[in-house]
Amino acid sequence: MDPQSSTSAARQGQAIPVTVIPGDGVGPEIVRSAMRIIEAAGVPIAWEEAEAGAEIFRRGDSSGVPQATRDSIERTRVVLKGPLETPVGFGEKSANVTLRKLFETYANVRPARELPGVPTRYSGEGVDMIIVRENIEDLYAGIEHMQTPDVGQGLKIITRKGSEKIIRYAFELARREGRSKVTCATKANIMKLTEGLFKRVFEEMAPEYPEIQAEHLIIDNVAHQMAKNPTQFDIIVTTNLNGDIISDLASGLVGGLGFASSGNYGDGIAIFEAVHGSAPKYAGKDVINPTALILSSVMMLRHLGQVEAAAAIEDAVLCTLEEGRAVTQDLARQTGGDVEHAASTTGFTDQVIANLGRHPTSVPVRVHASDLDLAPRPGWSYGPERYTAMKRDLVGVDVMIETDLPVDELGDDLGRLAGDALQLVMVESRGTKVYPSIGLATDHVRWYRGRFVAREGRTVSEGDLVGLLGRIAARHRWTEVLRLQSFDGEPAYTKAQGE
Ligand code: NAD
Repeated sequence: MDPQSSTSAARQGQAIPVTVIPGDGVGPEIVRSAMRIIEAAGVPIAWEEAEAGAEIFRRGDSSGVPQATRDSIERTRVVLKGPLETPVGFGEKSANVTLRKLFETYANVRPARELPGVPTRYSGEGVDMIIVRENIEDLYAGIEHMQTPDVGQGLKIITRKGSEKIIRYAFELARREGRSKVTCATKANIMKLTEGLFKRVFEEMAPEYPEIQAEHLIIDNVAHQMAKNPTQFDIIVTTNLNGDIISDLASGLVGGLGFASSGNYGDGIAIFEAVHGSAPKYAGKDVINPTALILSSVMMLRHLGQVEAAAAIEDAVLCTLEEGRAVTQDLARQTGGDVEHAASTTGFTDQVIANLGRHPTSVPVRVHASDLDLAPRPGWSYGPERYTAMKRDLVGVDVMIETDLPVDELGDDLGRLAGDALQLVMVESRGTKVYPSIGLATDHVRWYRGRFVAREGRTVSEGDLVGLLGRIAARHRWTEVLRLQSFDGEPAYTKAQGE
């Protein structure tokens, strides 16, 4: 490990280097609040202030994350960041997503725990769950293409390695935090090769953790169960988009965005931030609730091995909420309290500092381990020995076509173009077979997929695919080609509805 990294400094008792990104909108106010509290708790941190977000976009850097910031993160390997604005409507990618991807922080961890003094529909039930969301893959890979001027397509990427890393993370977290259950939430019933892969990996790994109950639920049912009976959940591990949605749902169960903390963890690197955004209408007014970022900084201190300081700050926040003397505007609004005389960001922070050393009376104690005590993670299994042994065959090809032709005409023509080695088995529209017709009323969106497979007794060569494409291109506008393969004799593609 880099001898200058934050975790090694923490081990040696030196000032711990941390990159701090104040961010946009209310970011600087909440970051200042967390920094003041950490200082008051006596944790020696050497902050390296760095920029990212709106101002960087304005200066013409389309990544939103300048090189000096990347260099600082490379050095410190730990970041506390305020929210970053994502310009809407012009080309820039989110600087948040860029940061997560640049440093491969594959685990987005969002705890949702009932807080004292923060009344919700579920108060008294003891909601206490952690959402572990895969942070890199899935539709967030952002690989999108317009197939025609009127048909957009996004690729959903799920890998065995990415799934193993996040599922391993979830089980290790359960073990380290003394939690008893991990629920895997997928849409494997519909997306059998992507969400299905995630589910299969979960089922393969679960027996390595016999003391932890492992269950799989379909993601829509998880949403339903979270609203109905949220205390049944302990840790939920899920793919990126599912996780995005249910982690906000989980925040809503325990008081909303002002209280929702998160950490983005990679191998030897971590970025801590509030779940909420830059709330621009409150920027500079000293009214925003800093709890979410303070609790994110508590996660950061645990990551740095500063377990006692983390517990002290967490207890001070819980005490402050419990006694209700400093209530921020958002909470006053939520509870029908006195918004006009609500606590400022600074006032709330002062109260948390004053409460350092006190313990809440109404919250059950939960013992947290340090991330430094994490057992080394076992290696991933998607190694060459796994896949070179597999027998792979090319068995056909799918060709996407933009056309104004009626589907029967298109189908007849593609059938004639198939050639000696291949035959057309169907034409489909958005996943439903429409040729040969099975009598369904499917909309004509001017975009179809023709599926060609090997004729009886023939093998398919690369030359067969190229020849077919040449014949199609001479008569139609093709937009994409997808190989049909089999692995160890099993089709590595799905069937269309009705095929
Ligand atoms: P937002 O979270 O900034 O604000 C939505 C509303 O939630 C606010 O108007 C406010 O009423 C409330 N709120 C949020 N945080 C609060 C807090 N700490 N205390 C009290 N009330 C709070 O969401 P938005 O308005 O959709 O996004 C604004 C900008 O933030 C956008 O540019 C967006 O891209 C960005 N954003 C960044 C992040 C991030 O950096 N991780 C996350 C979400 C949104």
